Amino acid sequence: MLVYANPDHRLHDPAEPHRFGGVLLPPAETAARADRILSALTCLPAVDVRVPEPLDEQDLLLVHEPHYLEFLRAAHSRWRAATGAPADGEAVAYIRPLPGTPWRPPTHVDAQLGIYSNDVDPILEGTWLAARSAAASAVAAARAVHGGHDAAYAISRPPGHHAGPATFGGYCYLNNTALAAAWLASRGARVAVVDVDTHHGNGTQAVFWTRGDVLTVSIHGDPEVHFPFFTGFAEERGEDDGSGANLNLPLPSGSGWAQYAPALEKARRAVSTFGADVLVVALGVDTHVTDGVLALADEDYPLLGQALRTGMPTVIVQEGGYGEGVLEHAVPAVLAAFT
Ligand SMILES: [Zn+2]
Repeated sequence: MLVYANPDHRLHDPAEPHRFGGVLLPPAETAARADRILSALTCLPAVDVRVPEPLDEQDLLLVHEPHYLEFLRAAHSRWRAATGAPADGEAVAYIRPLPGTPWRPPTHVDAQLGIYSNDVDPILEGTWLAARSAAASAVAAARAVHGGHDAAYAISRPPGHHAGPATFGGYCYLNNTALAAAWLASRGARVAVVDVDTHHGNGTQAVFWTRGDVLTVSIHGDPEVHFPFFTGFAEERGEDDGSGANLNLPLPSGSGWAQYAPALEKARRAVSTFGADVLVVALGVDTHVTDGVLALADEDYPLLGQALRTGMPTVIVQEGGYGEGVLEHAVPAVLAAFT
């Protein structure tokens, strides 16, 4: 298995706790995650780990708005200049416009943090470079598959599937999965994205919402009661050219393999009906029972890996998955069964 890993992900390593579900918790999306995955992959045969080539910035424009990229690039230094915060400070939104009231696009960085994000994710001094490094891994995996490899896996972090064309949130800043898909589509491929993270891939859905050349499928916990709440419902099918090219398969909280397997089968059928010639998998393993949304067990991850084998060239991009021991077991289990 060809694996792309970029050590620059460590430049984004949040430390400040945030309030989540009524309690103050340490950040879950830390640099240790990618290092734990990489160590665990050594148990697999024939793993070929490569550092991706530097990203071509033009590739980011396949998915993201130029003004958003400019904001991400400069946000931390502007925030420090405006607030006097130290270099290791974490810039977090604390204000957003009220819905239903007229407002003027803000120029102050504190207000712009609230325009460009939808939750409490921080921007650190190294966030931009780390996010770029994650995107570089995903695009390198797409290039490898386009160049003839059967499959490639990108240990991209920070993750990406909650990042929209001009928004960050859910630990995501640049949409690595969407970048891989959009890069392949720009080379003429007919691309299907299957997102098996436990949370709706709202950013990826937003990126391709009006496009008919990329199918987006997401299997996730019911957004009525789980992040990202506002999207991920079955009636969201895309618009304009993208009408019918988005499929959400929400599952009730606590669903195990008995409920998950039929949703995977629906996803496979949708990919086949769409006539895709390349698959991009958004691989979150926060579907594990210990993460509290869905309830897959250790022994289900090899089954997931088998189900993702379609015979098509496949790019696998890491998304969520946090629990101690879960990443180390579930990711190699999926990849081993896939290959
Ligand atoms: Zn997730």
